[in-house]
Amino acid sequence: MKANEEMVACATSHDEVDWHAIDWHKANQNVRRLQARIVKATQEGRWGKVKALQRLLTRSFSGKALAVRRVTENQGKNTPGVDGEIWDTPTKKAGAVPSLRQRGYRPFPLRRMYIPKSSDPKKLRPLGIPAMKDRAMQALYLLALDPIAETTADPNSYGFRKGRSTADASEQCFKLLCRRNSSEWILEGDIKSCYDRISHEWLLAHIPMDKAILKKWLKAGFIEKHIYHATDEGTPQGGIISPVLANMTLDGLESELRKQFPKNRKAQVNFDRYADDFIVTGKTREVLEEEVLPIVENFLSPRGLELSKEKTCITHIEDGFDFLGQNVRKYHGKLIIKPATKNVKAFLEKARCTIETNATTSAGNLIARLNPVIQGWANYHCHACSKQTYTDVDSAIFEKLWNWAGRRHRNKGQRWIKAKYFKSVGCRNWVFSGITRKPDGSNRAIHLRPASYTPIKRHIKVRGEANPYDPEWETYFEHRLGVKMEMNLNGRKRLLNLWKSQNGLCPVCGQKITEITGWHNHHIIWRSKGGSDTAENQVLLHPNCHSKVHCQKLPVVKPRPAKGAPKA
Ligand SMILES: [Zn+2]
Ligand SMILES: [Zn+2]
Repeated sequence: MKANEEMVACATSHDEVDWHAIDWHKANQNVRRLQARIVKATQEGRWGKVKALQRLLTRSFSGKALAVRRVTENQGKNTPGVDGEIWDTPTKKAGAVPSLRQRGYRPFPLRRMYIPKSSDPKKLRPLGIPAMKDRAMQALYLLALDPIAETTADPNSYGFRKGRSTADASEQCFKLLCRRNSSEWILEGDIKSCYDRISHEWLLAHIPMDKAILKKWLKAGFIEKHIYHATDEGTPQGGIISPVLANMTLDGLESELRKQFPKNRKAQVNFDRYADDFIVTGKTREVLEEEVLPIVENFLSPRGLELSKEKTCITHIEDGFDFLGQNVRKYHGKLIIKPATKNVKAFLEKARCTIETNATTSAGNLIARLNPVIQGWANYHCHACSKQTYTDVDSAIFEKLWNWAGRRHRNKGQRWIKAKYFKSVGCRNWVFSGITRKPDGSNRAIHLRPASYTPIKRHIKVRGEANPYDPEWETYFEHRLGVKMEMNLNGRKRLLNLWKSQNGLCPVCGQKITEITGWHNHHIIWRSKGGSDTAENQVLLHPNCHSKVHCQKLPVVKPRPAKGAPKA
């Protein structure tokens, strides 16, 4: 470990770090190795060993460097906390690494902000922004906590976990309800403001991490309009570690139910959870009301939580219910999951907003903004019965675009407007089209990509016991990532081929490139030195690895796909 640590840093002196000289490949290896050992010790129930390994990880240079990298690459990297600081240069990032010390650590209060709710953009929800350093400390401790959380998690918990998604939760829901003899009653659980209410005493007694540090985060308080407020309950919302704390609080509910209702018993009680959204299925209304509900309430109460009386309800499958933006309902005995009306409305509202706020921009720019919105929404629902909804949504958007075009050219006829904006492309007519400028200054035609272009594909649920930190499961998750990227990059063939041709790996650090890490398209022979724009000369790199390459003028060799690798 010691020798490795020094190799990672290549530091000139003890506390001076050169950001771009960090060997990320080694850093990742060191952390992954420790995480795999944490998983093993957890599985064996050797908590003393777990603690020692966590201590090693949270004090390692590798762990600290990766923590800084994580918080300087994610979405909020340019949003400062109360101290107003952001780490946007290699020098600042390098300086941050040795500053992640345990001794004398005192987190700042969170900066309270309000952002629009995703379910209803007109409503606001509070968000606490930790200072940069506190985010990095959370990321560091998360590296040491998440392997435990993944090992002890409920098998049917799918929210905010590595390698799991809403698609898995939705598929589990389908599996529980689809058969003729499946349970017919569903308890929809709604926990009253879950994140804000979790008991600090419970967290401090049960979360396996450095208690002193956890206590400091929980008690950090927040600042709103220059006034300090103390926090007595709840997890620090907006913190990187919060979703994992919340998951760990709710883990155990499934096994509690399983204890009372073993599999294959008549009551057919089953469980499915995404973050704090969960359902329990049962054979009869009475089982759910009289037996399951008390178990859930008894489980929640020591954690400081309770079910919302108004929003928790028991529904029959033929009346249907909404779960994760989709409607689940049996029609004449056949289970159909499709986009929920509320969800479709929210999406169309977003599309309408995009179109209206771009009343004066070019069609090309509007399409460049609309396409990802449509694609993202369609991808979310592409495992459900969404065909008809896709078609409906497309015609609603068409109508809005037709009006958009009409408003721009009030004195032109319909025929003229059609000729200008709605072209024939291949065998498709009425394709909303425009022009965008490529980075090299030349023009390119761009077309609206309708939702109905997204193929409907059955999703294969993640295996309940699969653990992303356990080397045993490595190839399993690699394969799933390939399938996922294939879907997400659907319609971006070139990018997908590039990703596949390098095995999904970044040649600089050897780690996977995913939607979460993001990527830059790098020219192996730089464009400024006459490199071409062909796929052969391009390679995908992590954003941070990309800037390292340019900063140090490193040569990049395209990784070659492993022979006989399974097709993604
Ligand atoms: Zn990389
Ligand atoms: Zn480049």
